[in-house]
Amino acid sequence: MVEISIQNLTKHYATLVALDNISLKIDSGEVFGLLGPNGAGKSTLLKILVGILRPTSGTIRLGEYDIVADPEKAKKLIGYLPENPSLYTGLTTLEFLQFVGKIRGVQDDLLDHEISGSLKSFGLDEKRNSLVGSLSKGMKQKVALIATSLHSPEVLVLDEPLTALDPKTRVSVKDWIGGQTKRGVTTILSTHDLDVAQTHAGRIAIIDHGKIVAVGDVESLRRLANTASDARLEEVFLRLTEEKGEEPARH
Ligand code: ADP
Ligand code: MG
Repeated sequence: MVEISIQNLTKHYATLVALDNISLKIDSGEVFGLLGPNGAGKSTLLKILVGILRPTSGTIRLGEYDIVADPEKAKKLIGYLPENPSLYTGLTTLEFLQFVGKIRGVQDDLLDHEISGSLKSFGLDEKRNSLVGSLSKGMKQKVALIATSLHSPEVLVLDEPLTALDPKTRVSVKDWIGGQTKRGVTTILSTHDLDVAQTHAGRIAIIDHGKIVAVGDVESLRRLANTASDARLEEVFLRLTEEKGEEPARH
């Protein structure tokens, strides 16, 4: 069981302030949604969380490990799905997943079992010997998700896991996320899709221009935004971000 603690996190890219003094606590086993328009800073936050980028200042702890001071131990806990996963297109699905599993130190028999089970549940069984490069976008995303979870991570960091997928693939990816979270995995997922946030996340942080505008479950966000108790998250989101005097990006 791993909780995530982010304290006073700031990230500058040259003169651009991509993240501005962000503090968040994500409980062990919680599904936490990071919701914001393009350019809000979601990917930057997730990349820092998984140790790909260094913060300009601030601290991030995953359980007992600080991601900057103890990256190897912290990274063992994490399964990360990047915004644009890079897969080895010249390997077959099976070769690719075996490769990732071995790098992650998964034992051979356990790895075979995990791969077979995951390919079956995603309906990708007959693609096991196809080159990854020949798979459709949706299939590639499923392979990337399997690769993310082969080592049974305690923390899942998913950067826009459902963006640009067809409806059928979206359903199976949503089911997959639901299954992972039932295992008690601490999950943080970013999205600009309000439905995704509303379906999966217990709590949601609305992020805009590198700042957390609001955090809470959908009901408390509705109260914060002074919207009706049945208001769609979309309306809540627009209210909360408009108060800053700027129009959020539309999709
Ligand atoms: P989101 O994932 O919410 O769309 P990002 O974290 O990708 O937002 O980007 C936040 C801001 O930081 C944007 O203004 C983006 O252009 C900028 N940015 C992201 N990555 C870099 C980088 N490597 N170098 C310079 N600026 C960047
Ligand atoms: Mg992004």
